[in-house]
Amino acid sequence: MSHAVYLGLGANLGEPIQQLQWAVKQLQALAQSQLQAVSRLYGSKPTFGSPTNQPDYVNAAVLLQSTLSPAQLLSELQQLEQLAGRIRLERWGARTLDLDILLYDQQVIDTEQLIVPHKELVNRCFVTLPLLDINPTLTLPNGVKVSSLACATLSDDIYVLADNCHWY
Ligand code: ATP
Ligand code: CA
Ligand code: CA
Repeated sequence: MSHAVYLGLGANLGEPIQQLQWAVKQLQALAQSQLQAVSRLYGSKPTFGSPTNQPDYVNAAVLLQSTLSPAQLLSELQQLEQLAGRIRLERWGARTLDLDILLYDQQVIDTEQLIVPHKELVNRCFVTLPLLDINPTLTLPNGVKVSSLACATLSDDIYVLADNCHWY
């Protein structure tokens, strides 16, 4: 059975836009999956707790149709992160790719390895805005519309870097 899966992509070191382009290419080739949609590309300020002198983040979201299980998908994403990490390690240093499972159909998953919907989804504009690009009527398993969340608007902390869906 095929599942609708929303993924969050983020990077802030090295060449973040190229990293996300690379990640989208890899997701296009992912086993048992089809890439259905990609959001606009956003820039966002590092959040609370992080040093303010680090570069802005680059964020996006994608929608996959996949027959991979949540655990299989997480494993695939972690392999991609590691692959990107290795490339980066040689060229730029630190980790520059973060791939999170935001939603898996309307399932609620709470295991040691995986919490879905992503636990910070409702608090992060750099997650909600890309999600709304892909699906303006997206609803969470608890019935809350993503568009109704407080952070579902552009602000000083988040801006559009590339407007159409051809940035990748
Ligand atoms: P945050 O979770 O706040 O976005 P992060 O993405 O920087 O932080 P990571 O270090 O990338 O955190 O991941 C830590 C662990 O989170 C992973 O090893 C994974 O097992 C777990 N995890 C739990 N829920 C999810 C999810 N929905 N998507 C991806 N990883 C998840
Ligand atoms: Ca994350
Ligand atoms: Ca992560």
